[in-house]
Amino acid sequence: MSQVQTLHTTLSPIDLDISRSENYPSHFQNLDLENVTHGNTNAGVPDNWSSTPSLRLTADSFGGSEPISEATIFPSLPPLYFGHPEVHLRNGIINASRLANDGEIDAEKAFFVADLSQVFRQHQRWLACLPEITPFYAVKCNPDPYVLRLLAALGAGFDCASNGEISQVLSIGGIDPSRIIFANPCKANSFIRNAGRLGVDTMTFDNIDELYKVARTHPRAKLVVRILTDDTKSLCQLGLKYGAPLVTVPGLLAKAKELQLDVIGVSFHVGSGCYDPTVYSDAISRARSVFDMANDAGFSFTLLDVGGGFEDALFEQAAAVLTDAIQQHFPDRRNIKVIAEPGRFYVSKAFSLAANIIARRAPFPDTSTTEYTTTLSDHPSVMYYINDGVYGAFNCILFDHQVAHPYVLSMDGSFHVPSSEPVCLSSVWGPTCDSIDCVCPKTELPRGLRVGDWLGFDNMGAYTVCAASQFNGFEVSKVVYTLGGGASAAEMHNKLIAFAAEAGLL
Ligand SMILES: *Cc1c(COP(=O)(O)O)cnc(C)c1O
Repeated sequence: MSQVQTLHTTLSPIDLDISRSENYPSHFQNLDLENVTHGNTNAGVPDNWSSTPSLRLTADSFGGSEPISEATIFPSLPPLYFGHPEVHLRNGIINASRLANDGEIDAEKAFFVADLSQVFRQHQRWLACLPEITPFYAVKCNPDPYVLRLLAALGAGFDCASNGEISQVLSIGGIDPSRIIFANPCKANSFIRNAGRLGVDTMTFDNIDELYKVARTHPRAKLVVRILTDDTKSLCQLGLKYGAPLVTVPGLLAKAKELQLDVIGVSFHVGSGCYDPTVYSDAISRARSVFDMANDAGFSFTLLDVGGGFEDALFEQAAAVLTDAIQQHFPDRRNIKVIAEPGRFYVSKAFSLAANIIARRAPFPDTSTTEYTTTLSDHPSVMYYINDGVYGAFNCILFDHQVAHPYVLSMDGSFHVPSSEPVCLSSVWGPTCDSIDCVCPKTELPRGLRVGDWLGFDNMGAYTVCAASQFNGFEVSKVVYTLGGGASAAEMHNKLIAFAAEAGLL
């Protein structure tokens, strides 16, 4: 009965397959696999479980489970590992199981795995498609300390929107303030003054008041006029709040001249999560007309900032549109530096979240009327409650218009989900007591899923951790870091060390 179902799974038992891999890491060796093995699971792998694609952990895939010895490159940061992110998701689950076994508080807490090699791959894509455009990573998207350091080591600049973000980037060490653009067109006076003190000179504006403020607090600033472009083809439209309409630009430039301010270029943002990259073309043509207006006003612009908005799946397409438009409207780029402010593109795919099923509300198994009758209606019959939600990492559902797609990481103590396992319509909820805290209103999940099993969520790197709250006393989920495997991991490792050495951190 239901009592049995909830009790036996509290331990998240481990599939015996893992015990068979010869070199599993030392912290698993203490694991009493006999004790944590689910009574219903045969010692061997049942026939119906072998039909799933094999995801077995091998000695090889465990290569990444010891922290890199030079994790002290950045002593204040959490350890850095090698190895495939999936290995670390599973390690985390096995570890949680061990902690649960030891009666540890919060043993089953949700956690992220950050695959820094994914950030590295995105950078390589960037270099391949947009070699002329220097990325200034939008810090607000995910101000993760390793992401910032890796991007700094790769030569990126940073788009900061506040004093706090500027301090965070500069406190890393080894990053010249010229590698920061203060890309918030509406800043507090004290923030502008402080940016000036710190040597952050490049900053955006889109209104007259901002010019007066800058004239008073940081007259040497290198200003960038943020213009309004078509942002209707994006998940998050920013034009509602920012961007000077083109008709206002001559007036703004004239005022800047009168105040003896230096305006050096133009920026725009087509909206975050842009799903129609052709909008970049129109934006570039508008930027061209602003360059011409600047000439008329006695400025000679040297900076073209094409903003953010890059979506992973459409990146190559967006890059092609941009490249063509820039070539068409700015054929002579000898005195023009082109930068962009990508956020989502760099980090979205790099973070996965593992969340534990802490509670479940299912139809009584012994009442035939409600017995998983998915055919009866399209109403989810099982409710799962997990230990991260919309007040935490899944705030992206509310703020960033995202849809969560759960998959099963572990079920019944195994990482193998039998393909024969029947599914039923389910809903997934966060841990807080608010009913808005729904992670996924309707999805198909295996019928056999129980309390103690783990769900995984990919693409959790953008606009997630950064806006998570501790509402209702639930902590923000922690991150496990990996550089991935193979040659790129070694290359990234070397780059991080070189960066730290150059910054005088070693
Ligand atoms: C949010 C933001 C970005 C990043 O946008 P993405 O869509 O994540 O690439 C870049 N620039 C500015 C000014 C922003 O506000």
